[in-house]
Amino acid sequence: MRESRGILTVVSGFSGAGKGTIMNELLRCYPDCYALSISATTRKPRPYEREGVEYFFKTEEEFCRMIADGELIEYAQYVGNYYGTPRDYVERQLEAGVDVILEIEIQGALKIKRDRPDTILLFITPPTAAELGRRLAGRGTESAEVIRSRLMRALSEAEGVDAYDYLVVNDVVEDCVRKVHSIIQNEHSRMHRNLSMIERLQRELEEFVQE
Ligand code: 5GP
Repeated sequence: MRESRGILTVVSGFSGAGKGTIMNELLRCYPDCYALSISATTRKPRPYEREGVEYFFKTEEEFCRMIADGELIEYAQYVGNYYGTPRDYVERQLEAGVDVILEIEIQGALKIKRDRPDTILLFITPPTAAELGRRLAGRGTESAEVIRSRLMRALSEAEGVDAYDYLVVNDVVEDCVRKVHSIIQNEHSRMHRNLSMIERLQRELEEFVQE
């Protein structure tokens, strides 16, 4: 277990940027380093999605109850559905020194940064808009109308990206995964995240010189 709390990283990116692939690869390559938070949503499951794996699927009523009971760190509406981050899991992992990754859209990301300024905000983008459209269409799970709404949403989200700390281009998946990993790991060396270690060293030094 680390001496300091885990680091919270929010990963966002246009729908179709390949965030899901990057997150899966990150966890596969570095299984001991990260915990991925599973969101609650009112969106209907896609054919391959399982309850409690990709999402916790909720009715609108259930979701509103979670909001009212303060069970979510943040929530947002995205193309007609609610999405939110359960508080309990995130807090427990951070407390245990584990780095937690949230894969959420921009409104939620900005809210978390306001509440917890030491969160890393990381934005993933494909190299070109044409590639984005190709990836969304290639997924084959969304109607043309939903794809269009998601591309429109991407256009408006591009306005808010300057609030993010890092931009990572997802061209070659392995390169992108390595970059994300090194960004988070380097963050552990920041002085303000290591103050408890410094305090311990000071105490040890004091004991040492008194002997
Ligand atoms: P999708 O329907 O493609 O799974 O997700 C749609 C968008 O919702 C994505 O941009 C995804 O990052 C975002 N999202 C997923 N979970 C959450 C969450 O808990 N909170 C917020 N604010 N956005 C989320």
